[in-house]
Amino acid sequence: MPNPSDLQASIIPVTPFQQNTTLLWSQATKEAVFVDPGGEVPRLVAAAQQTGVKVVAIWLTHGHLDHAGGATALARTFGVDIIGPHEDDQWLLDTIVEDWAKYGQTTGFENCVPTRYLKDGDTLELAGHVFDVVHCPGHTPGHVAIINQAAKLAFVGDLLFKGSIGRSDFPKGNFEDLIASITGKLWPYGNDIHFVPGHGEISSFGQERKTNPYVSDRVLGRE
Ligand SMILES: [Zn+2]
Ligand SMILES: [Zn+2]
Repeated sequence: MPNPSDLQASIIPVTPFQQNTTLLWSQATKEAVFVDPGGEVPRLVAAAQQTGVKVVAIWLTHGHLDHAGGATALARTFGVDIIGPHEDDQWLLDTIVEDWAKYGQTTGFENCVPTRYLKDGDTLELAGHVFDVVHCPGHTPGHVAIINQAAKLAFVGDLLFKGSIGRSDFPKGNFEDLIASITGKLWPYGNDIHFVPGHGEISSFGQERKTNPYVSDRVLGRE
């Protein structure tokens, strides 16, 4: 197993939603993945070139337009696979173009069919670094979290934010499922896991268990 500190990450907020696309790479091998490339594909291609990495895959946490809208064009550009999310989000990947049109954006986004869906218990690998796949419905039915235990680093999409949680009022969203996903499936990884949310600043599971107004231990009566 490579040293966890070999993993490098650069967060690139894209689209009018300022969605956190992450360029994640191994310093040793220069292999890289994009997590949730929501759009602004030329900017993402330039970021990969400037960093001097070889993009080997695209990973998606869920099917929303701001997370997956750039995946197809980026996969074509680099000749790589799109991996994830869970197949229960395909209905969202099928409507990316029409969903962006509702926000007045008619170019720069494509619908998406992943090369491979993810399910609970799968693992992903980048340059020998192993990532757990955790199926976490609630925000969308096919949402997954991607967690590297050695580096204590998680990609949680729109499940959890610094000081907030994802919306569950979209079609097929479910508030109880979302809370159960966060507390039952993310928290067991430990308070010292740092996470990149889909929007906003990074935080840690421990910090949110202390201070998050929706899912702190105190708010949920688990203290
Ligand atoms: Zn979302
Ligand atoms: Zn989002």
